[in-house]
Amino acid sequence: MSVNGLRFVITGASAGIGAGTAKLAASNGAKVVISDLNDELGEALAAEIRDAGGEAIYQHCDVTDEEQVQTLMSVAADAYGGIDILHNNAGIHESMISQELSLETMTRETFEKVVSVNLVGVFLCSKYALPYLKESDQASIINAGSTSSIAGYPNCMAYGSTKGAVMQLTKNLAVDLAPHSIRVNCYCPGSIHTQMVDKFLEAAADPQAMLNTMTMTHLIPRMGAPKDVAELVCFLASEQSQFINGVVWLIDGGSLAWRGTLDILGMGAAQ
Ligand code: NAP
Repeated sequence: MSVNGLRFVITGASAGIGAGTAKLAASNGAKVVISDLNDELGEALAAEIRDAGGEAIYQHCDVTDEEQVQTLMSVAADAYGGIDILHNNAGIHESMISQELSLETMTRETFEKVVSVNLVGVFLCSKYALPYLKESDQASIINAGSTSSIAGYPNCMAYGSTKGAVMQLTKNLAVDLAPHSIRVNCYCPGSIHTQMVDKFLEAAADPQAMLNTMTMTHLIPRMGAPKDVAELVCFLASEQSQFINGVVWLIDGGSLAWRGTLDILGMGAAQ
């Protein structure tokens, strides 16, 4: 898996899966532009990567703000002479911004906010990275889907719809950008231990029951770690994946491979 010298832009990369990807890519020789809303964490992560001998800068960017997205892409291209990889990672779940999660109670504002970050953000970042990606000879866009792109979950109405749309946007962009030799892929994680999952669990009426629901279907009986997903993102960016395009790649511990929970297999509660 080689990402040596590739120039990455990663959105929502101050924490969680984006941060894990920034660290792994940089430790394998990539030049990484970390962007996020959380400047303190983002600057600290870029400094940590540089201290370890890697190349990274931080640039503030709200993916829903067209001007900030344009600035991000131009700052990234100026810093490293272009962009090869756009990792559309930024995402939110409705439980992070509201406690009203049912169809009866969710407001239009909450629903539209999730659409704006998770779907419109992917559109805007792809649009404004495109001029630079066209100049790269190893360009790809890698989108964060979810198992909720494919299956329904409780209290996931806005999130699940946007992740389903990101999966379909991936396929459409793979088609439209093929003439420019830009690959577009999407990966769909199961439950990965990040602040997003912690906040989702906190919002649940019975956090332990919700944790069981989320992990009792993983055939690998644990939550994923950000590094598990980072390995896949780096592979999808790498020289080794050049014939992979328009895919929806599950990284879910096997949860969508079957219908059942671990107790049927005598494996007990997942950790
Ligand atoms: P996370 O820990 O919450 O990290 C997401 C980052 O995105 C945060 O730093 C957040 O900043 C930032 N962000 C939020 N809104 C933004 C915006 N408008 N513009 C730019 N950045 C923004 O989440 P994660 O679990 O690593 O998830 C990363 C991606 O993977 C998301 O797209 C998520 O849907 C997807 N995913 C995660 C899981 C999972 O189990 N964790 C499963 C499937 C898919 P603030 O903290 O300042 O808001």
